[in-house]
Amino acid sequence: MNTGLFIFDTKARELKEVCAKNGFEVQIYCCGPTVYRDAHVGNLRTFLLGDLITRTLTFSGTSANLIQNITDVGHMGEDFDGSEIGEDKMLAQSKAEAIDPFEIARKYEATFHRDLAGLNVIPAAKYPKASETIPLMLDLISNLIASNHAYVGSDGCVYFAANSFAGYGDISGNRLDSLKPGHRYEYVDDGAKKFHADWALWKAAENRTQMIWDSPWGPGFPGWHIECSAMSLHFLEGNVDLHLGGIDLRFPHHENERAQSNSAAGYEVVENWVHGEHLLFEGRKMSKSAGNVVLLSDVIAKGLDPLSLRLCFLENRYRSQMDLTWDALKAADTTLNRWRGKYTNWCEDGDVDEKFVADFTEGSLQDIQNDLDTPRALQQLRKLEKDEFLSGATKAACFEVMDQIYGLDLQRGEAPKVELTPELENLLEARRVARLDKDFAKSDEIRDLMAGLGVLVKDTPGGQEWNWI
Ligand code: AMP
Ligand code: ZN
Repeated sequence: MNTGLFIFDTKARELKEVCAKNGFEVQIYCCGPTVYRDAHVGNLRTFLLGDLITRTLTFSGTSANLIQNITDVGHMGEDFDGSEIGEDKMLAQSKAEAIDPFEIARKYEATFHRDLAGLNVIPAAKYPKASETIPLMLDLISNLIASNHAYVGSDGCVYFAANSFAGYGDISGNRLDSLKPGHRYEYVDDGAKKFHADWALWKAAENRTQMIWDSPWGPGFPGWHIECSAMSLHFLEGNVDLHLGGIDLRFPHHENERAQSNSAAGYEVVENWVHGEHLLFEGRKMSKSAGNVVLLSDVIAKGLDPLSLRLCFLENRYRSQMDLTWDALKAADTTLNRWRGKYTNWCEDGDVDEKFVADFTEGSLQDIQNDLDTPRALQQLRKLEKDEFLSGATKAACFEVMDQIYGLDLQRGEAPKVELTPELENLLEARRVARLDKDFAKSDEIRDLMAGLGVLVKDTPGGQEWNWI
């Protein structure tokens, strides 16, 4: 069944129409979070891509079935090129916080759901956890061993034989014959692999005592890539119309997943591989070491509507790298507030021109169905806002209909200005007095203190003015 939504398939390297192979519902799998920390706004950009696609499909009359996994075991630390080094991210964080690893998982799983709710994301049909789907993975691994796509190494780990899958590299362009031996894919010191590009499906527990399970090959834990094959094959019944993730997952995660899934199923399991480009913040890659990891809670702490993040993402094409800034978030917050205020007033103004609304929303949908060109669709909305001839009621109707895709809560009404706390009021007053006394050193000191507390104070001919930073 055709859907009218065309989207760039990384493997085919061209736009392809999304189709529901089963004839009634588009099956979507989105790689979910590794729940050892809060998701940052970059992760959220990728998760919002799934929401935008399902909303677009639903809007145009096709239902979608979205599954998003929760990785709570088996995702090892990575170095700069994605090679696995170090220990399981869950166990490392469990040590750092001195909390049981399953508790760490549930804690960050809860914040993940809180963030999605704050961003108006329509929940997926299921969020299966890796730790609760081990039997699915064991079955799949056994199947791959039986069909000679995998083997048990002398170290008790089970490896996928990369050479056994002819199409390896089709998604990323990384061909096995051009991948250099010595490039690290999995355990650095992994001597039991038969070929440098093979990867572990099951890892022997060795000295590890937590987050391990029994298996036909002894106690151990699953590799990261096998979980997505096992879950997508099982929960989407062997047919994935659309597979989503951030661009960094193209290789090796998705290349390996495709090799596993296709080898087990005997056919091409995923029709469309869709990758969202990465988000930078203030021009830099977000990383803990650089100290510039931004969370949704940081956006909220600055007094900004979390949906301003959603608007910023919609104003950029998912396939372009995007540089998010605090200024852009503030501008989006102002826009949202203005639109909500206007929406309320427009509703009272005149009659709805139904024909215009139908044409306008059809035009916007066409933009979005063209590889999710939301920036172009939003330009039309901005033009509509300024139109001097249309009735307010018509504008309000267009905003309301399109918000089913944008998810910006445009009918909410304007937010009242958040007032200063009594402590900040006192500081502002102390600064006013300091300026009257011409004690400018003190006045500057208070201004800096307030800036540190998130309030920007400016001196104007009318006195002090403040704004949340
Ligand atoms: P993780 O929790 O690290 O497994 O990542 C969850 C998702 O976020 C994956 O689809 C990643 O590809 C994606 N991702 C990671 N960093 C970024 C970023 N800076 N911008 C956009 N997506 C990202
Ligand atoms: Zn995945």
